[in-house]
Amino acid sequence: MATPLTADRLLAILKAEGVRTAEYTGWRTRGRDAATGKVFGPVHMVLNHHTAGSNSLAVVAKNGVPGLPPPLAHIHLAKSGLATMCSAGRANHAGTMAKNAYDSFLNEKTTHPAPSKASGTVDGNDVSYGIETENLGNGTDVYTRAQYDAWVRINAAICRELDWSAESCGCHKETSVEGKVDPKGPVEGYGTRGRFEFTGKQLRADVAERLKHPASWSPSTSKPPTTPPSAPTPLTVAQQIAALDKRVTALEKR
Ligand SMILES: [Zn+2]
Repeated sequence: MATPLTADRLLAILKAEGVRTAEYTGWRTRGRDAATGKVFGPVHMVLNHHTAGSNSLAVVAKNGVPGLPPPLAHIHLAKSGLATMCSAGRANHAGTMAKNAYDSFLNEKTTHPAPSKASGTVDGNDVSYGIETENLGNGTDVYTRAQYDAWVRINAAICRELDWSAESCGCHKETSVEGKVDPKGPVEGYGTRGRFEFTGKQLRADVAERLKHPASWSPSTSKPPTTPPSAPTPLTVAQQIAALDKRVTALEKR
């Protein structure tokens, strides 16, 4: 359980985690709190989404969609890996969560049951941070390397700050009672990892790995440096004399 972070703090922890950030005009005060009479927080989890569209930043941050007023997430994550701040308040992203699934994230269980409406429901917008990651959501559009890297960092930054484990990071499809399927789609391969299908389980594994390291950790540069080529061994005096002797002999022959 945690009190929601201030706008300044939310931005600061992302930067500290190595996320490239931008700020959508008005993001600090935009939220679905006053309009609904509801309060954001305490927060218990991060909820991950795909936008199911392209160029969706303005939709997420300012415009919303018919029947769903903005903001539609706290953070919009572009293909480039740029995270744009959209809200620090209550956002319309999670909808109704199944209690059984929500409880598994709240209690940081290592397994997360399929959402069951029969277990009861929770207003997910009150209790979760939302990340909308740009992807068509058609199952073939690829999450770029930069995008996935930033995605892991954003989840880790929030967990690190609020002292949560990676099991606090869920996906819309893992909590929704409204038949949501996001996020899904292939992630661009990197390192020794070939292209792989996005799953909440893999995301949590990558967030957990990140949390073992300081916020400044960058996997691509954290490998031990390759050993520089060793300097040539200095010649012994005897070898120097022999070499000199050889050159003199060569000169004498000219
Ligand atoms: Zn979603």
